[in-house]
Amino acid sequence: MSKSLIVITGASSGIGEATARKLSAEGHPLLLLARRVERLEALNLPNAMCRKVDVTDAAAFAAAVKEAEAQFGPVDCLVNNAGVMLLGLAHDQDPAEWKTMFDVNVMGLLNGIHVVLADMKTRQHGTVINISSVAGRKTFPSHAAYCGTKFAVHAITENIREEVADDNVRFITIAPGAVETELLSHTTSNDIKDGYEEWKEGMGGVIAPSDIANAISYAYQQPQNLCIREIVLAATRQQ
Ligand code: NDP
Repeated sequence: MSKSLIVITGASSGIGEATARKLSAEGHPLLLLARRVERLEALNLPNAMCRKVDVTDAAAFAAAVKEAEAQFGPVDCLVNNAGVMLLGLAHDQDPAEWKTMFDVNVMGLLNGIHVVLADMKTRQHGTVINISSVAGRKTFPSHAAYCGTKFAVHAITENIREEVADDNVRFITIAPGAVETELLSHTTSNDIKDGYEEWKEGMGGVIAPSDIANAISYAYQQPQNLCIREIVLAATRQQ
């Protein structure tokens, strides 16, 4: 039987890239979205449509999904992974950074849900996997707005899970601890970045993007009548 179409946002690096490789190896056709489309294409995965889509652009998101569905059939899973982490102290961080994080991490995720959910309800089948964070369950220094976005991801996921459970649609939260990716590189304060690197070293290193990809695959591959509501995974020594 041919495998169903999966959409992965932010597949151009880190967790999204590892997830694309894993789900492709499992035989799924993929729609891969990010702004750096050349990085998506460089993955060179079979049956993978790569589109330059900023997740804050709801119309572009919808157009890419429509195009992929015409080729591969309906979306059975959306992995809402695209995200940015711009750490800063509340008294001096540029509010434009707060807006970027809420636009991408929250509105971008809702845009994806809006594109796929009505169809999943109609088909009485589908899974949405939202990538939150341990920072969506507890707070950390310099993380106020980022934690705000990830607490929102937890709340949105659980709320919609309840809303569509009766339609046989699953909503899953994946909450990673620190993972070795490009995520920290966009923070502008060198002091904060240095402190974060020290924190990572102090726990003896962090987990790999492939660890998260394995958890995403595990949750998705369960039978449709079983919903893994949340997976929290982090380095054993992470507090
Ligand atoms: P990366 O920076 O490596 O990847 C982020 C991805 O998001 C990139 O592919 C980037 O693609 C994409 N992205 C960012 N902004 C947009 C946008 N406006 N539109 C479309 N795509 C966008 O970091 P990670 O892999 O670590 O991050 C993936 C997710 O995991 C994020 O939601 C992050 O918050 C979460 N997470 C990460 C943890 C970590 O320690 N690394 C821990 C817990 C959660 P491009 O720039 O090409 O658009």
